[in-house]
Amino acid sequence: MQTTFPTVTVLGIPFVKTTATALLSELQRRITQQQNTFVVTANPEIVMYAHDHSAYHDLVLGADFITPDGVGILDGAKILKQPLPERITGFDTLQALLAWGSTHHRSAYFLGAKPEVIAQLKPILARDYPGLVIAGIHDGYFQDEAPIVADIQEKQPDMVFTALGFPKQEQFIHQYRHVTKGLWMGVGGSFDVLAGAVIRAPKFWQEHHLEWFYRTVKEPKRLKRIAVIPHYLHLVRQQAKRMPPRG
Ligand code: UDP
Repeated sequence: MQTTFPTVTVLGIPFVKTTATALLSELQRRITQQQNTFVVTANPEIVMYAHDHSAYHDLVLGADFITPDGVGILDGAKILKQPLPERITGFDTLQALLAWGSTHHRSAYFLGAKPEVIAQLKPILARDYPGLVIAGIHDGYFQDEAPIVADIQEKQPDMVFTALGFPKQEQFIHQYRHVTKGLWMGVGGSFDVLAGAVIRAPKFWQEHHLEWFYRTVKEPKRLKRIAVIPHYLHLVRQQAKRMPPRG
């Protein structure tokens, strides 16, 4: 991974040790200079998936920036005695890039989510980000990706957001990121949240690091996500034991 930031490696995944604001300005700088960029926002579930799937692990390491998306990653870094300053979530980064894109008339391509979510998303993007150029917008339930990739290549958007869930979204980016000179980022269920199909936890829950709890109660299918946390923390503690004392 090439990055301008120091990193903290949690179970083989090097996370950028920086703030959301500093990362954002670096991403904006790279977009402005047409530097091809791959951002992965990783939570413990992604870390565990990468731990168990070496091909996915390798392609995640090909990202330019891997951000700590989830309090579990901050906890892991703390256990390793190399604390990270803050969470940098996919959703917040997406929103910040869209706001910046709207102000600077940048273009974005949206790929993912269900067709009905995409239908809702279009007018919301036009309303909330009036200066943003929507280069393309396509649902994530396609049979053939070739026409979509050709469309992205033709439109040359500054930013491509894939909301296909992991590992699909990162696999797609790994395979096709070089068809444009812009930024590519997997954003999970963010289009559902933007379109209002899924409600994000109120500020109170976010600020108390309890968004995972709120969302699990609202969507019990998410339980399998938090089920990985105990095993994840166990493996991080083992990593901490193997590390020489820092000094
Ligand atoms: N999705 C998709 N194509 C697929 C599978 C999933 O577009 O083949 C979308 C799905 O509709 C949802 C997103 O990918 O919008 C995944 O959301 P999830 O809540 O699983 O991701 P998270 O935010 O937790 O990473």
